[in-house]
Amino acid sequence: MAARTVIRMGHPTLRKVASKVDPAEIASPEFQELLKDLFDTMKVEGGIGIAAPQINISKQVTLIELPANSERYGTLHSCPLYIIINPEIKIIDSTFQGFWEGCLSVPGLRGYVERPKSVQIDYLNEFGEKKQIIVSDFLSTVFQHELDHLFGKIYIDRITDTTKISYLEEFAEFNAIKKEDSLDE
Ligand code: ZN
Repeated sequence: MAARTVIRMGHPTLRKVASKVDPAEIASPEFQELLKDLFDTMKVEGGIGIAAPQINISKQVTLIELPANSERYGTLHSCPLYIIINPEIKIIDSTFQGFWEGCLSVPGLRGYVERPKSVQIDYLNEFGEKKQIIVSDFLSTVFQHELDHLFGKIYIDRITDTTKISYLEEFAEFNAIKKEDSLDE
């Protein structure tokens, strides 16, 4: 395992638009090593997604995985491992839906964010193949949170009601939200 250090809000890399990956670079050992390190870091940190800028690599790469057997998310929300490179996002259903979000780069906090209910993402996978996915509901929020990291955005920017920002302990004490309906990325 080669988990790397996750940088936190305030680090300038989190505010940059990350560079697109050259498709010719995807098969290289260095890039595949980066994917492995991202995966290891996501697991060590207990996130369901991680983006390269969060380990101070300003490239358009993100990983998302919600294991079906996870204790926290159960079978309610699950998806296999997605490796998303150079994504383009299009809103399919602009109805807003809200979830409590958390971020590995903003430790200790939860915030309520409303985002479009369904989006289409065109991207390259870890083999450099063109792929398309449409995600809805909880997964739509998960993917949008992660893709935001590739464009210099953090979920805090998306909070419209700042009374809905909480420390984790207070969140657990005063909110009746089920744990599986909030996320950490
Ligand atoms: Zn995040």
